[in-house]
Amino acid sequence: MSPLGRFSAVAQSRRQLNNVLRRFASNEAPSSVVVPGVRPIERIRNIGISAHIDSGKTTVTERILYYAGRIDSMHEVRGKDDVGATMDFMDLERQRGITIQSAATYVDWHGTNINIIDTPGHVDFTVEVERALRVLDGAVLVLCGVGGVQSQTFTVNRQLARYNVPFICFVNKMDRNGATPLKALDGLRNKLNHNAALIHLPIGKDSNFNGIVDLVEGHALYYEGEGGLIVRKDEIPKDLRVEAEDRRQELIEHIANVDETLGEMFLNDQTPNVQQIHEAIRRTVVKRAFVPVLSGSALKNKGVQTMINSVVKYLPDPSEVVNRATVKTETTGDEKGIILSPKRNNDKPFVGLAFKLEAGKYGQLTYFRVYQGQLSKGDTVYASRDGRKVRVQRLVRMHAADMEEITTAYAGDICATFGLDCHSGETFSTDQNLAPHCESMHIPEPVISMAIKPVNRKDADNFIKALTRFTKEDPTFRREYNQEAKETIVSGMGELHLEIYAQRMKSEYNCPVELGKPTVAYRECLGSPYKFHFRHKKQTGGQGQFGEIEGVIDPLPSDRNTVVEFSDETFGNNIPKNLFPALKKGLDAIVAEGPLIKSRIAGIHVRIQDGSTHAVDSTEIAMINTMQNMMRESFEKANWLLLEPIMKVEATVPTEFQGNVVTSLTQRNALITTTDSTEGYATVICEAPLSDMFGYTSELRSLTEGKGEFSMEYSRYAPTTLEAQDRVQAEWRQLHGIADPNEKGKKKKK
Ligand code: GDP
Repeated sequence: MSPLGRFSAVAQSRRQLNNVLRRFASNEAPSSVVVPGVRPIERIRNIGISAHIDSGKTTVTERILYYAGRIDSMHEVRGKDDVGATMDFMDLERQRGITIQSAATYVDWHGTNINIIDTPGHVDFTVEVERALRVLDGAVLVLCGVGGVQSQTFTVNRQLARYNVPFICFVNKMDRNGATPLKALDGLRNKLNHNAALIHLPIGKDSNFNGIVDLVEGHALYYEGEGGLIVRKDEIPKDLRVEAEDRRQELIEHIANVDETLGEMFLNDQTPNVQQIHEAIRRTVVKRAFVPVLSGSALKNKGVQTMINSVVKYLPDPSEVVNRATVKTETTGDEKGIILSPKRNNDKPFVGLAFKLEAGKYGQLTYFRVYQGQLSKGDTVYASRDGRKVRVQRLVRMHAADMEEITTAYAGDICATFGLDCHSGETFSTDQNLAPHCESMHIPEPVISMAIKPVNRKDADNFIKALTRFTKEDPTFRREYNQEAKETIVSGMGELHLEIYAQRMKSEYNCPVELGKPTVAYRECLGSPYKFHFRHKKQTGGQGQFGEIEGVIDPLPSDRNTVVEFSDETFGNNIPKNLFPALKKGLDAIVAEGPLIKSRIAGIHVRIQDGSTHAVDSTEIAMINTMQNMMRESFEKANWLLLEPIMKVEATVPTEFQGNVVTSLTQRNALITTTDSTEGYATVICEAPLSDMFGYTSELRSLTEGKGEFSMEYSRYAPTTLEAQDRVQAEWRQLHGIADPNEKGKKKKK
């Protein structure tokens, strides 16, 4: 009797049948009774599916949910049935067929609780990826069997490296014409410098792809029946035996190079058994020394169950990852690092990171990664930033847009709470005195701005509501009000980033908006230190105002040129301490608009060294004005420079176009840092000003007959050339109908 027939005899309903088949399909002994919820820490995996757009990440995630029994039917991402993949639960994503917001979900895979954070692949949404990676312990890198390592894979790879995330690689789309895991393998080794080897060989080419050879176990696996639910084990097909033997040897050699135990066996000519190979893969994957390469086709339902088994087998559980936090020492107030304990059943206080906020149907949802201790419904926790006390009223676990109530979440878990007043990236603890901060996230500065306004005046309320929510959820999305132009300006990580928010305002808040032309988010900074001694005095009518300050404004070094610092370096009490907050307030307000093109001032350090005040006239408002008028004087007298965002650009093109592409980038003022070529493809890495990169997508396309790709990521702010500064200022003046002060001067002289 076929396996299907045998099971259908006992299954009461189709759902039961599916559950039975799924268990059968995993090739593992059915686990004892699966109790949802609490798992020992070895039975937890927090993983991300990392990939660049279009490699099949959403389809892969959808299949994982399906095979793990959490959803009953599968939907194609751009399917005809209008339902859309479960993870892409936002309407807009449904329309676009791309994943733009990470949604956490979990599945139970034979007693292992796998939390999956769906990470967006587009470069414009890197902060979403960064947040997800911050809380993950491992990842599955999905590559396309035809494209292999593409230019955007570099960005994903860099992010995995930055957060030290171990990963396995799933080569998807093996059913496509010309697909081969060898291209991805070559890319992993030669473009990304990973020690990688195949652990699967595909069986059948192109649309005949129907299974894999498991090189570790030494057998073939075929995915059959409806939805590929039946995994049939068989002998390795004859025509693949020699290659399978060679590839297995290659696999062992690659692991032996980085694993002591297997290395020793290799030197002594001992053959490791299957168990020993699995263990060695796990050890080396966890320390990021090896990447196993799997094959499959999510769309054709092949290889996904085996991939999930590999997640459990090779990726680390939360206790195998070291998580640090910083706390202030009681005596000196200095910061010191502590290691958080993921152990269960100890009396350590709860420490958790709020890594994602979402405004849901039932109020604000806050996703937590529990790093230490446990969090229960009804607990009171404290925000480390300001000691704020909040109560956890509801605790849930997320499955895409649905949720399940839970009473307690333990170290290693990912959960969500309702109604907590917080910003993303805040750490909470049950110990008020500990005030730990989990490592700060790498948050890039917004680099592009656009004016934004509601199309209909009546939507003003919704417009504000939407902006408030989005800016709270996404630290790279900011808004400012430009007093002079009387317009709201939003800033973000790229044109697409801002366009997506504009569309969400329409679809979620019923507030259609208009976006202005994109402008680069320039900053204004000092070219050299500026000494000041300024006296503010006002005596006309009412109470007088008085304040006097002396000190220096220093430019900050390039690694801190995106912030404004303020310090009190005075001796004695010429300026009473209680007046400094007013000075700071004056500074905070005036740095919003610099002297050159009214863009934000950054990269300065205002140091107050002396001054004088008057007992009656040095009011708060007087001190605010003192600071602001001093700054206005510096606008006239100091040497101000324009800073612009510099992007790290990576272009991957067929080598025959390399010369042209390098020339085109150089013409755009790029500084080439590396060029590399392998197997007919060249990768050019460079840094270029963002303002010079507008429209490069289409130029690259025409230069390379559509075969080139590039990705761009914010790197840092740097001063523009003087010519660029003059040009930007002239354009800005023209836009605002302001006469050139130098021209005026010239005319007067005549
Ligand atoms: P994402 O952008 O990485 O989330 O990728 P999607 O899951 O949206 O997939 C992008 C496109 O590739 C969609 O049209 C999918 O149907 C298709 N796709 C996904 N997996 C496979 C596969 O295994 N084989 C083939 N031929 N197409 C696939």
